[in-house]
Amino acid sequence: MTARKDWDTYFLDMAYMASTRSQCGRRHVGAVLVQGKKLLGTAYNGAPMGVPDCSEAGCMLVEEYELVQVEDKEEVVKKQRCIRTIHAEQNLLLFTDREDREGSTVYVTDQPCWTCANMLANSGITEIVYHRVYPKDSEKVSLLMNQRNITFRCLADYEPPAGVLSEVTN
Ligand SMILES: [Zn+2]
Ligand SMILES: [Zn+2]
Repeated sequence: MTARKDWDTYFLDMAYMASTRSQCGRRHVGAVLVQGKKLLGTAYNGAPMGVPDCSEAGCMLVEEYELVQVEDKEEVVKKQRCIRTIHAEQNLLLFTDREDREGSTVYVTDQPCWTCANMLANSGITEIVYHRVYPKDSEKVSLLMNQRNITFRCLADYEPPAGVLSEVTN
């Protein structure tokens, strides 16, 4: 018999399950809304309904310059990002009710980007639990969560269930 999963593992597993629905070849993100121990919504990153997604139309790439810390120097690095999809966290907000979100927790496979974090901060939720770090926005997102008194936890030791991980290109 295998050990019973704790709640954090259980709900993060569900976020990873949701992420397998994503059709973006660059990033598969899943998110679930949980109140108490009740699952109130699931979402993943994808194009709006009825619109060709990344698997059909290809990713819609934009190039951005990003300031990154390399050892003790700052360097400007050119990066590509897919903007075809609505992020999982934003889809989660579009498909859940404000009432359900009050005091609830979001489990998400990846640390939210700045825009998602900003929206989550105003959504009624009081906790975010994530697995993979997203260093680009990490600092300002952590500060925001602090200011909004939202518990912000990284489950660093978590291991996703077999078969749910996709290749991620940054
Ligand atoms: Zn894409
Ligand atoms: Zn986002």
